[in-house]
Amino acid sequence: MSSTQSASNGERLKGQCLCGSVRFSAIPSNPETSACHCHMCQRWSAGPFFSVYCGDSVVFEADDDLERYASSEWAERGFCRKCGASLFWNLRGKADYHVSLLAIEGGPDLKFTTEIFIDEKPDNYAFANDTKKLTGEEVFAMFSEGQE
Ligand SMILES: [Zn+2]
Ligand SMILES: [Zn+2]
Repeated sequence: MSSTQSASNGERLKGQCLCGSVRFSAIPSNPETSACHCHMCQRWSAGPFFSVYCGDSVVFEADDDLERYASSEWAERGFCRKCGASLFWNLRGKADYHVSLLAIEGGPDLKFTTEIFIDEKPDNYAFANDTKKLTGEEVFAMFSEGQE
């Protein structure tokens, strides 16, 4: 998951929630996005969650209404307590952000390359994009390889 390559141009992009109470900027580590079909993302974002990996580059300009929910032992999810927008998931106790593609200005210009937890995707839809598809098991295997 870690990458030494910088994004297309390493540009800092702005993002915000629906009501604008939470505002931030971030630099995508790669010029691409992935969709997560896991059951938690479905419940949390009302669909697959499209995220952009931004590592520790996230800077909050306004975060009084930012709420962090510990969704598991290792991850937390950030949302706006005013408008309810889903904004990111992050490794707990560490700045390691996967930011919502659609909260970022210009986010949709990034290429949609990967679908994860494909084994938890509902059967009533499927994306036509040519993506790499990983099961939950394959994702966890990649995580443990990438860490010490
Ligand atoms: Zn908001
Ligand atoms: Zn997920």
